[in-house]
Amino acid sequence: MKTAENQGSADTSREAELLSKAAEFSFRARMDKKTNEGPIFERAKGSVVWDVNGKEYIDFNSGQMCSALGHNHPTVTAAIKQACDTMLHAHSSHYNVKEIELATRLGESLGKSEGARITLVDRSRTHIWKPLLHSIAAGDLRRSQQELDYLAQAHWSHFHYRNGEMIGLDRVGRTITLAALVDEDGREITPQSSLAYDTLVIAVGSVTNDFGTPGAAKFAIPLDTPEQASRFNRRLVNALLRAQSQHEPIRPGQLHVAIIGAGATGAELAAELHHTARQIIAYGLDKIDPEHDLRIVLIDAADRILPALPARIANATHDLLDKLGVEVRTGARVAEVLPDGVKLADGQIIPSELVVWCAGVRAPAFLRAIDGLETNRIDQLLVRRTLQTTQDDRVFAMGDCASCPRPGYPEPVPPRAQAAHQMGEFMLRQLRDAIAGRPLREFTYRDFGSLVSLGKYSTIGSLMGLIGRNFFIEGYFARLAYRSLYQMHEAALHGRFRTLLGLVVPGVRPAPTVKLH
Ligand SMILES: Cc1cc2nc3c(=O)[nH]c(=O)nc-3n(C[C@H](O)[C@H](O)[C@H](O)COP(=O)(O)OP(=O)(O)OC[C@H]3O[C@@H](n4cnc5c(N)ncnc54)[C@H](O)[C@@H]3O)c2cc1C
Repeated sequence: MKTAENQGSADTSREAELLSKAAEFSFRARMDKKTNEGPIFERAKGSVVWDVNGKEYIDFNSGQMCSALGHNHPTVTAAIKQACDTMLHAHSSHYNVKEIELATRLGESLGKSEGARITLVDRSRTHIWKPLLHSIAAGDLRRSQQELDYLAQAHWSHFHYRNGEMIGLDRVGRTITLAALVDEDGREITPQSSLAYDTLVIAVGSVTNDFGTPGAAKFAIPLDTPEQASRFNRRLVNALLRAQSQHEPIRPGQLHVAIIGAGATGAELAAELHHTARQIIAYGLDKIDPEHDLRIVLIDAADRILPALPARIANATHDLLDKLGVEVRTGARVAEVLPDGVKLADGQIIPSELVVWCAGVRAPAFLRAIDGLETNRIDQLLVRRTLQTTQDDRVFAMGDCASCPRPGYPEPVPPRAQAAHQMGEFMLRQLRDAIAGRPLREFTYRDFGSLVSLGKYSTIGSLMGLIGRNFFIEGYFARLAYRSLYQMHEAALHGRFRTLLGLVVPGVRPAPTVKLH
């Protein structure tokens, strides 16, 4: 792998070629304010090429830079070479990535300058930020307002999009296999195909882990995809309409919802459902008495709710759910899901019309030992801290489907939105370094805290303070902090300016002029 130091010995004609290349690309360079290292190169006209750590800019083209810092300045010479090598090298690279934030940012830098071909493969045609799914299930958010068309985003952000489901990998031939796509009538849209890559980033997320519990796959609804969230919402509204129109009295269990898994998703769903079901009933479903007929039961095998979060957040959330009348059953292991309820390990039956499974995650099963890559017991791909898989330098993995070591902690980086976001940011620089032949960096996860949004009732959580300790927040500020995570995701897709503008002027988000999905 090339480094800035070993490039310093290149001959003068090569140096001249590189310098002219630098001028052609009209670099802007700056010194890192903190380390005084540099210069760090960026393309003029605001298109950042690499390394954006510092704040102080020195604007000049490459000729001026040489006279300003000395033509033979070792850092300048090495950095120009490195910069130019990156540009030259990038032209022949082809990525195959699967992560909308990363594809957008790569498309806007390397894809736009035609430095690399970026292809995003997703089995879905639209993107929805996954932490919004329980709000779609509860009916608090409209799916259509949150969806982003991959095809349009690819067009706007200079990457390519391929609609397909990855089902296989050939590491020797450097191809992935995509399953045939068929429509709802069984007609083939695209045949099974393969796609070549130079560098592959696998970011296929996670799915609900029902631990093989009998009846779970058949009778419980998971919340992994927008379709499942919409299906849950339809079943909720149908149950309320059925209760309103029937002649006989509402039977026990008819309007009960059992949520299995009292992690953040389960607790948030319970609070949102409490609110939205009452809202629906208020639209004239006068045969239903919400206080008497509706019942939400939150079940977990652990001895408290939110087992992965600090006890103070769990206690405050539990108190609020109690006040709402949500029935919290901790220390209760589900033995079986029935067509009309849940059977606990102690034999008790909890009757319920709707059962949602939110307990635990695992990586998609097709990753299990895929073409010799190492996986753990929940099928996550084992990666080094560079996010390269342990067996193949060209195959990276990130997000929920990757198990990345976290120094100083027994557990790997947790499967959370903030970890996926940080990995996406990290991967952007990592891929640029990889094609430039620069040494790769190691990913460090920074836990900024945990927040639980209980719909309109409250938001509760803790933020990591400046002195490295968590502090507890609740209410308005917690809500703002919770929204900021989504806004970071939006900013990565639409740019900071448009995201900020969107807070005051709804509808500034770009939308295709025709329906693409
Ligand atoms: C209801 C819910 C609420 C949540 N709330 C929070 C929260 O409040 N805070 C938090 O930190 N985390 C939360 N999470 C977890 C968070 O959503 C995930 O950690 C995060 O989305 C992981 O990002 P990812 O990019 O790894 O995967 P995902 O966001 O799941 O993206 C995976 C993508 O891969 C695609 N895909 C999957 N398989 C294939 C295949 N074989 N071929 C092609 N494409 C494929 C999918 O269509 C999807 O677009 C929540 C999760 C859920 C389900």
